[in-house]
Amino acid sequence: MDIIERFLKYVAYETTSNEESDSIPSNEKEIILLKELVEDMKKIGLDSFYKDGFSYGKIKSDINKKDTIFLMAHVDTSPDAKGYDIKPRIVHYKDGSIPLSKDKILDENIFDNLKKHMGHDLIVTDGNTLLGADDKAGIAIILDTVEKIIKRGGYPNIVICFSPDEEIGRGTVGIDLDYIKDSTSRIYAYTVDGGDITKFSYENFNAASAKVIVDGISIHPSIGKNKLINAMEVIQLFHTLLPKQKPENTEKREGFIHLCMMNGFVEKAEYYYIIRSFEPSELESFKNSFFAVRDKINKSYNRDLVKVEINDTYKNMKEIIDQNTYLVDIVHNAYDELGIKIQDDPIRGGTDGATLSYLGLPCPNLGTGGENFHGVYEYLDIDDMKMMVKIITMIMDKIE
Ligand SMILES: [Zn+2]
Repeated sequence: MDIIERFLKYVAYETTSNEESDSIPSNEKEIILLKELVEDMKKIGLDSFYKDGFSYGKIKSDINKKDTIFLMAHVDTSPDAKGYDIKPRIVHYKDGSIPLSKDKILDENIFDNLKKHMGHDLIVTDGNTLLGADDKAGIAIILDTVEKIIKRGGYPNIVICFSPDEEIGRGTVGIDLDYIKDSTSRIYAYTVDGGDITKFSYENFNAASAKVIVDGISIHPSIGKNKLINAMEVIQLFHTLLPKQKPENTEKREGFIHLCMMNGFVEKAEYYYIIRSFEPSELESFKNSFFAVRDKINKSYNRDLVKVEINDTYKNMKEIIDQNTYLVDIVHNAYDELGIKIQDDPIRGGTDGATLSYLGLPCPNLGTGGENFHGVYEYLDIDDMKMMVKIITMIMDKIE
């Protein structure tokens, strides 16, 4: 099976993860693909099995290499867009915009990332669904690389894991790390779950969430003077006193506070925030600002009107990667040797690799060649996907 056939086979499976569900995986249809991947891993020569929402595969080095490469990709697709009845189409991109359907156009003026893919073959949608390159391109890349290197010979120890529910933040719940790390060798671990293949990520946000609750006092407005405390008014005041760094005015290495949901009545109002920063100290100062504003308002009303609850969500993996720089060096060397420019690209979000890093398996992220994830404008650059196979093969060849 060539890599395009592989990719098209996997996107035909509906695997949309479901935040509402508590089961593992969150959508039982994910299991169908996970089990098919077990068969596909066996076909190319791996020992493979399915367990508790994850599919694993392993093969020992044919030339007694000491070290191991671990590769991971997720089977689920984002619940943000329709993930079934996907009708992929291959187009050779020359320039301009690409019509997807009667009313949906992949517009070069909006999606300026198209320019990077000039002259390449792209897989696009019909404008009704996402494509699923996130992360079925990762799956196709991993299996194509491993299939080819097994045929060629001269490979390191290889361990693969396909995971569920990455898109709803549960992609490592129940993962069998003992199986993955069952070896005294050094492990070169990577998720293959990014976009642009020239971008390499071993740094991500530190993250927390905050819930602000205001308990007001409701009384008939006709007799409200000096009695009524409108929770919605108070919570708006709270919001205006927070730092002004927001997603809409920050980029690159800048952190932010993002109001993502609100509920309100006169008697009670609630705001939900996410807080993000690459620097632990900035994250702490954002968190502290919530408490400072709470105290200020409570003091001015002389009562505990405002409550703040804050929880940490995930941490920047860089702290861990900095102690394991071999993971970065080998990737840089592989790119250099292939003459491909590489850019270290901090992720303005979290990854399963960040979680794994703190569970004792440091795990940066490699790209796949996909763009515009989580929506109908998603597309995949076939040439970049094939280049990623060469890059990972080069990494494997450098492993001792
Ligand atoms: Zn992904």
